[in-house]
Amino acid sequence: MIHDKLRVAVIGVGHLGEYHVQKYKAISNVELIGIADTNPVRAKEISDLYGVKAFNSHKELLGKVDAVSLVVPTEQHFEVAKDVLSRGVHLLIEKPITYQLQPADIMINMAREKGLVFQVGLVERFNPAVVMMESLLSKPVFLESHRMNEFTARGIDVDVVIDLMIHDLDIILHNVRSEIKEVHAVGMSVITDKTDIANSRIVFEDGTVANLTASRVSNKNLRKIRVFQPDAYMSINCLKREISVIRLDADLKNKNQFPQLSAEKTTFPGRDPLADEIASFVNSVIAGTEPVVSGDDGRKALKVALGIINQIESGCRSFRAI
Ligand code: NAD
Repeated sequence: MIHDKLRVAVIGVGHLGEYHVQKYKAISNVELIGIADTNPVRAKEISDLYGVKAFNSHKELLGKVDAVSLVVPTEQHFEVAKDVLSRGVHLLIEKPITYQLQPADIMINMAREKGLVFQVGLVERFNPAVVMMESLLSKPVFLESHRMNEFTARGIDVDVVIDLMIHDLDIILHNVRSEIKEVHAVGMSVITDKTDIANSRIVFEDGTVANLTASRVSNKNLRKIRVFQPDAYMSINCLKREISVIRLDADLKNKNQFPQLSAEKTTFPGRDPLADEIASFVNSVIAGTEPVVSGDDGRKALKVALGIINQIESGCRSFRAI
């Protein structure tokens, strides 16, 4: 790094981009050079609130920074990311990487050719409860995820599989070390003209089954993952950042001499997955290491998500390996 501090910017400072601004400002070896947003009113609001320079366009700031967070709507990811990567700037692109495979491949190749860190903002991988679950996973037999959001007008440029289910697809694909054998998916649109609620059941070659449900038209927010494996049942509440691990305790017997279950709950007060994700990106850039969630990871989850969407939209009830 030529400068004392890593010079960064945030492109797109809507709902989530504002949080990226806050997290960068809290990192001591980072200098937040500026922000860019096509909405001048929003750009000024964030500029005034955080005392950071607003640039008229992302192209203006690219020569001045080492790394950026790209937090624009998914439809805009590819067009802006191409500019960022072609200028040799490291990129943290919000999830989903994009909504088609070809642009994802182009971005991954551009980053690789230029030796840039290209991280995808699948933030749940930094959720401490998920990190603990991953450390305890041995041979999962069944994984189940529920990711339900109340309806908001954000994220509706893509359907719920790409917007929400993608987090759980990423976690499951990262942890089940087996190829997909079969996927069955159903879904429907409720408020938007795209799929708003979806379920998919993925069967892996090694017999592991994953059942994923995502909705953006729920009456409450809920994010849970459950895992069965031979030595434990784990229940993860991603929103509360807590994990319960239930095991069969051979030493504990009831009056009929059956072994009892023992449960242990772990919570992580004060932990902030987005701050950890951004700190991890900064560290990868400074150290020149692979990001925790790579462009390839983002593409892998996208590929399965597109297969699920295709199946839902074609009304086909099942399709073979993708
Ligand atoms: P948003 O609509 O609140 O904000 C997007 C901002 O980008 C707006 O201010 C808009 O004016 C600006 N913008 C649009 N096109 C632009 C361009 N070409 N250049 C610069 N600015 C531009 O959306 P959001 O909810 O903040 O979502 C943004 C991205 O973050 C999406 O990709 C979304 O999927 C992702 N997201 C991720 C998570 C997560 O859990 N990781 C959560 C929410 C959103």
